Parts: sequence; structure tokens; C-alpha cells
Amino acid sequence: MSPAKKILIVDDEEDITILTEKFLQLENYDTLTCSNGYDALDILKENHQDIDLVLLDIMLPGMSGYEILTQIKSSYPEILVVLFTVKNFYEDFQKAKELGADGYLVKAISGNEIINYIKDILEKKKKKENN
Ligand SMILES: [Mg+2]
Repeated sequence: MSPAKKILIVDDEEDITILTEKFLQLENYDTLTCSNGYDALDILKENHQDIDLVLLDIMLPGMSGYEILTQIKSSYPEILVVLFTVKNFYEDFQKAKELGADGYLVKAISGNEIINYIKDILEKKKKKENN
């Protein structure tokens, strides 16, 4: 049996990291996690030979996902990088592709769904207050 593939998750949203890690582990992937680009590059420096894929958020504190992507691809071109983001815009998809991303995954809940959800909650509160 070949060794489990190892995936580095880089995301500053803890809930998403925890959930994604659980899903991947259920499918027998090994995972590493961190919440910013500086830590991601440190982890890669030590472990790049073991890491198969980086699941990379775009909106991160400090270094953006695009900057991290560029650095990963220049130092470790063999590692797959999949951007994992709420940014469901063609320009972002295009930019990711130009910078060498291997994939682009929109987080299951879209920006629209978040907005609709928030609108809904705010409206429910307003209705309650008016009663
Ligand atoms: Mg983020």
C-alpha cells in the first residue's frame, strides 16, 4: 500500500480548518494545518518532501494566498496547490490559474448564501421587534 497522501491546509478560519481536516482524515489523508502564509512556508521548508497538496485560502492575514501560491510554486513546483476560497469570481479564478494554481475550489457555502442567511436573520429579528 502506498503511504497516505499528506495535505497541508492553510486557512485562518478555524471552523473551516477543523471540518476540512476531519473530512480528509475520514478519507485517510494525513493532514497538517496552519493559519497564515509564514507558518505555511516554514512547514513546507521542513516537510515539503512529504506534502502532496496544499489547500490554500486566499484571504489570509499578512501574506495573501496568491503570494503564498507564487512562493510555493517557485520553490516546490511539484506540490499541488488548490485554492480554497469563498471568492467565487472569475478574476480570482483566472489570477490563480496564471500564478500556477492546480485547482480552485469554492467553499461549500457561497458568498451569496452567507449574505442571504444574514439578511434572513436580520429580517427575522426586525419582525420580532415589530411585534
Ligand atoms: Mg480566510
